[in-house]
Amino acid sequence: MLENLQQQPADKILALMQLYREDTRDQKIDLGVGVYKDASGNTPVMRAVKAAERRLVDQQTTKAYTGLAGDPAFADAMIDLVLGDVVARDRIAAIATPGGTGAIRQALELIRIASPDAKVWLSDPTWPNHPSIIKFLGMQSATYRYFDSETCNVNFDGMLADLENVAAGDVVLLHGCCHNPTGANLTADQWPQMIALLKSKGAVPMVDIAYQGFGDGLDDDAAATRLVAAGFDEVLIAASCSKNFGVYRERTGILMAIARDPEQKALAQANLNFLNRQNYSFPPDHGARVVTTILTDPELRADWEAELEETRLGMLALREQLAGELKRLTNSDRFEFVADHRGMFSRLGVSPEVVEQLRTEHGIYMVGDSRLNIAGLNEQTVPILAAAVAKSI
Ligand code: PMP
Repeated sequence: MLENLQQQPADKILALMQLYREDTRDQKIDLGVGVYKDASGNTPVMRAVKAAERRLVDQQTTKAYTGLAGDPAFADAMIDLVLGDVVARDRIAAIATPGGTGAIRQALELIRIASPDAKVWLSDPTWPNHPSIIKFLGMQSATYRYFDSETCNVNFDGMLADLENVAAGDVVLLHGCCHNPTGANLTADQWPQMIALLKSKGAVPMVDIAYQGFGDGLDDDAAATRLVAAGFDEVLIAASCSKNFGVYRERTGILMAIARDPEQKALAQANLNFLNRQNYSFPPDHGARVVTTILTDPELRADWEAELEETRLGMLALREQLAGELKRLTNSDRFEFVADHRGMFSRLGVSPEVVEQLRTEHGIYMVGDSRLNIAGLNEQTVPILAAAVAKSI
């Protein structure tokens, strides 16, 4: 049997990580992998996470199964964090999932059950796992223009022109904030225009929000998702806790399905529970319980928000520093966008040859499309990167 298997396409980011590990140069800089790192290059366990885990170790009296949807308190806390009170709770079905990826996978499977012929529209570019899972599930997809490689900002006219072709019932996948891989985001004025277009087309929005708190702050980063949630009868939202709680390996995420009314919500909830049952039965609980503990305890929550804010401001300072250095060294505004982008990533907009040169000559690793992880830098390495980029372009 196993001899019938064929090689699967290699994950480019994981392959890059391997090359980095094998590089023996002391000065090497990893800007590839999508994990937050502090100035010393560590991915710390957040203080509030440690405290919540200690509390769980002391106080948890059972590891018996939770419900199929996970702990209801986790859903309540996450709905509050992501949506605030913009949608009535009795319209929102939700399941805990293994990470944001699990939520995306379950959302796509729900779409496939409900509407097998629906096309899923993806930004060009998007997180590579989006098209990969869609293809694996045998679903149809299309892309809409998103990134303007000249300006390194959103090509909003191109985006609207392409979304004109959305058919009623098609699903349009949007990044709630901190677009991955580009770092370029719609402005506050552009979101309502885009939403109005999708409404006029009868589209179903699906929001992937994996970096809430990494861009402009917890509430600002959720603003677009809330606008979408409030504007449609039906919305799917996949939220990840991996980055903003730093619980990557605990696999903590949630899928919310906003339905037209409480009756449809109940039907959606039953289907989401069914999907969890088919795929892995009960979802992982440890990370979810840690997140719930933090969000519902005022002291832990305040400490988590403070540490997240420090993280966010640290990344913004690195953006400012990098944009400044590049401006000085290239004597141009070409890289001004680095300071305007938000989240962990920016697409630099340099050629694959330059990306290759940065790796071979300078030991600087970034993804081939010139996506760099801002959090992979620190005050000392920003000038090194800027000098290498200025020299290579
Ligand atoms: N969506 C986007 C856009 C992401 O960048 C990521 C993480 N790389 C995820 C979803 C899912 O993250 P996880 O499954 O680790 O929670």
